[in-house]
Amino acid sequence: MTTLSKTARAKLTETHVIERPEIVTQQLSQDGARKWLLKSSDKNTVESVFIPEEDRGALCVSSQVGCTLTCSFCHTGTQRLIRNLTACEIVGQLMVARDTYGEWSSPPANRKISNIVMMGMGEPLFNFNEVAKALKIIMDPEGIALSKRRITLSTSGVVPMIKKVGEELGVGLAISMHAVRDDLRNQLVPINKKYPIDQLLDACRTYPGASSARRITFEYVMLDKVNDSPADAWELARLLKGIHAKVNLIPFNRWPGTSYKTSPFPVIKRFSQILNDNKLSAPIRVPRGRDIMAACGQLKSANEDRSILSSTASTNAAVL
Ligand code: SF4
Repeated sequence: MTTLSKTARAKLTETHVIERPEIVTQQLSQDGARKWLLKSSDKNTVESVFIPEEDRGALCVSSQVGCTLTCSFCHTGTQRLIRNLTACEIVGQLMVARDTYGEWSSPPANRKISNIVMMGMGEPLFNFNEVAKALKIIMDPEGIALSKRRITLSTSGVVPMIKKVGEELGVGLAISMHAVRDDLRNQLVPINKKYPIDQLLDACRTYPGASSARRITFEYVMLDKVNDSPADAWELARLLKGIHAKVNLIPFNRWPGTSYKTSPFPVIKRFSQILNDNKLSAPIRVPRGRDIMAACGQLKSANEDRSILSSTASTNAAVL
């Protein structure tokens, strides 16, 4: 920026950086999903995933290197927390993705990356300040100018922060639900011991901005013989009464070392039907990016089982 004085430029150099995270690897799934392993200047790495749909696409963005929570169905939960990402590193994931698809000058209507989901590695509400700063930059008309309607933040259930998300950011909310009883949810999503289901659902009932047009998404991973009975489906429908809710049913995506299996398709279909009968939308998510370990619950950037990941990925996916 030669139009600035030398002194101003020197001062900016001292206090600001202009850089992207380094792309360590990019993998392209047979189904079109793409995963980046990104490295920051202190050599920590995180993963981001782009899931293309026919007329839109969502970028799944990470908020932490690792995670302090140990949700038992989640691969990231096996990676200890190293640190929170900065706002710069969070926005950087979107910038790398836009670079990849050449989407800086394209008209907004034609962009592949139309939505962002804060559902990557980490619990975003344990890094609220940096996540909020990043999303404000992404939403700002003078920034990346992505509407809050196109952004969803997913939490495992950090109850005291939920209201703040609605008031300060106004983005869509998703809850990692996965169980209808506290004893089971304590195992699957251990933060439930601190904030049990009734407290979590109370926070959802009063989430600012939720409406029938803007429903809260309850993510529910389908684990064979663990949480997939018709009784579970009926109880979920009962619990969600009075909440502007929809349910995403996620067939479990396996990862090295897990003992869980995904529920058979007819079981998932029956679960979905019970929810539909109770006037709840409950689509069954089609797994995306499984061949490159990019599907929901499979992300992990620590080196210890990177060799397993690369061998899985290289069998049937392009490593770019
Ligand atoms: S589901 Fe989210 S909060 Fe739970 S371990 Fe995985 S990344 Fe962490």
